[in-house]
Amino acid sequence: MIIHLQPNLSEEERQKIIEKITRFGYKPNLVTTQFAEYLVAIGKNEFDLRQIGGMKGVKDIHRVTDSYKLVSRKWKVNSTCIDLGDGIMIEEGKCAIMAGPCSIESESQIRKTLDHLKAEGIQIMRGGVYKPRSSPYSFRGLGIDGLKLWAKLAREYGIKIITEVMQSSQIEDMFDYVDIFQVGARNTQNFNLLDALGEVDKPVLLKRGISGTIDELLQSAEYIFSGGNERIMLCERGIRSYENAYRNTMDVNAIAILKEKSHLPVIADPSHGIGLRNYVESIALASLLAGADGLIYETHPQPEKAFSDAQQTLSFGQSSELTRKVRAITQLAHNDFMLS
Ligand code: PEP
Ligand code: MN
Repeated sequence: MIIHLQPNLSEEERQKIIEKITRFGYKPNLVTTQFAEYLVAIGKNEFDLRQIGGMKGVKDIHRVTDSYKLVSRKWKVNSTCIDLGDGIMIEEGKCAIMAGPCSIESESQIRKTLDHLKAEGIQIMRGGVYKPRSSPYSFRGLGIDGLKLWAKLAREYGIKIITEVMQSSQIEDMFDYVDIFQVGARNTQNFNLLDALGEVDKPVLLKRGISGTIDELLQSAEYIFSGGNERIMLCERGIRSYENAYRNTMDVNAIAILKEKSHLPVIADPSHGIGLRNYVESIALASLLAGADGLIYETHPQPEKAFSDAQQTLSFGQSSELTRKVRAITQLAHNDFMLS
């Protein structure tokens, strides 16, 4: 049950609502986010919702039977739109593009990538400075110094930054230089990190776990939302399956299902999704048609020389071609929607 509270209700009004819902056999949890206040009440008893809905201080009440609540579409009709500032939005039907290398490597690599993004009108650059690597001997990122340099250059270009945070102790140092915090597939169920990101007033892109279910992804998103941060994007990046002809199995099904189950934007990561550069474009376009609100993919000035994930990284030529097709499809879909 979600009880959406009115802004500025008095403490007395809040307590009355809490007492009444408790009397109905529910355990209320007060959630205060950057935008609103909610009571997420856990229980099963049947009662007439109007008994709470009619109380002073209640904006709305919804029965949500899913294991996740605030991220469910059952209480929120409109899809969530995320404002990154400077007119840059993640919103349904627009296909936001986030592109850049797997890892941030050098000043020249950053500059060349920014030049490419600028030329293509791409407003968000991806890149890792803390890299989760299967082997401890692989390149593990330039760390905070790399992030500071990247942020300085990206701001000169008016381009936003998305980068992975691996542990909660990194958040404070990274905060000023990051526009979107990425939670990687290996950290989808790092509940301490999710709790910490709930307290942060910055958007979060949450990737699906390597062997995670859709339900687990949504429950992880619920950690962030219930911690106070509503600005969450869900990311399908492929899951581990028995197939070994490619790196991961991009679960395009999940995109359609997530769009139905949640009001949060869904971003597709075709690079990790298939792991082979020549197929990234097809999987990106398939994801868009399945309903993705945006794409995050890897591109590099010299893809074959990339320090990490070289085999799935697009050349700038391939990135330009993909961008052109994405724009054409988005436009087509938009016109179609206008007609219907
Ligand atoms: C990445 O984006 O480079 C990355 C490590 O992604 P994932 O967590 O999906 O493996
Ligand atoms: Mn990568």
